[in-house]
Amino acid sequence: LVRLSRVNKHFGDLHVLRDIDLEVARGEVVVVIGPSGSGKSTLCRAINRLEPIDSGEILVDGVPLPAEGRALARLRADVGMVFQSFNLFAHKSVLQNVTLGPVKVRGRSAPEAREQAMRLLTRVGVADQAQKLPAQLSGGQQQRVAIARALAMEPKVMLFDEPTSALDPEMINEVLDTMVSLAKQGMTMIVVTHEMGFARKAADRVVFMADGQIVEQAAPEEFFANPRSERAKDFLGKIL
Ligand code: ATP
Ligand code: MG
Repeated sequence: LVRLSRVNKHFGDLHVLRDIDLEVARGEVVVVIGPSGSGKSTLCRAINRLEPIDSGEILVDGVPLPAEGRALARLRADVGMVFQSFNLFAHKSVLQNVTLGPVKVRGRSAPEAREQAMRLLTRVGVADQAQKLPAQLSGGQQQRVAIARALAMEPKVMLFDEPTSALDPEMINEVLDTMVSLAKQGMTMIVVTHEMGFARKAADRVVFMADGQIVEQAAPEEFFANPRSERAKDFLGKIL
């Protein structure tokens, strides 16, 4: 469903993505881990074309991401993204946050979008917050709204970039539980996270990045039990 071939990206002299090859199948859940600065966020942003790449190719459902314009907006809608900071529209209600994209980009009618939004807010457990502004919600609630907002676009794949790292500990699980249930329902997901519990529970594959490269990848049981590279052993030693 998602295919990256020989993707390279530089920031000036810094080679942040080096010949990245990555394939994610429909329904697969891939957890990306690696040290700070290894290029995980850049990888997510490249897949969504928030960050242009220097060379290589990125296909989503067989289609290369166009450079700009309406075609990009439509294809970008196929790739839902949830960030560390929730990025909700501060001056719109929770409900409006979720209905805006579907009305603007997917051409839904307002009643249709509202009904779908309420369904999704119910699914992530914050339907009772629909009329509030984001600032009136807890961090965990805001992040679940952000997930509902991304789902409202009916994406083919969901990208999560450290979705729980800005949350207080007691809110982390409510967001992870939402993500686990999404994974179990067959959503294709690429998740940057250091929550190894999530990786064990929901990931089909763990991808370990260091210095802009994919150093190794394996099923979570295998990766955690027998990391092969020194970099991965060293990294796991620090976080586990
Ligand atoms: P973290 O775990 O800290 O989030 P990461 O693996 O997500 O790290 P990236 O954010 O992808 O790492 O950054 C990779 C490298 O690229 C870092 O050295 C970072 O400083 C650099 N970088 C990221 N964005 C930019 C930018 N817009 N301009 C210049 N350098 C950047
Ligand atoms: Mg990052």
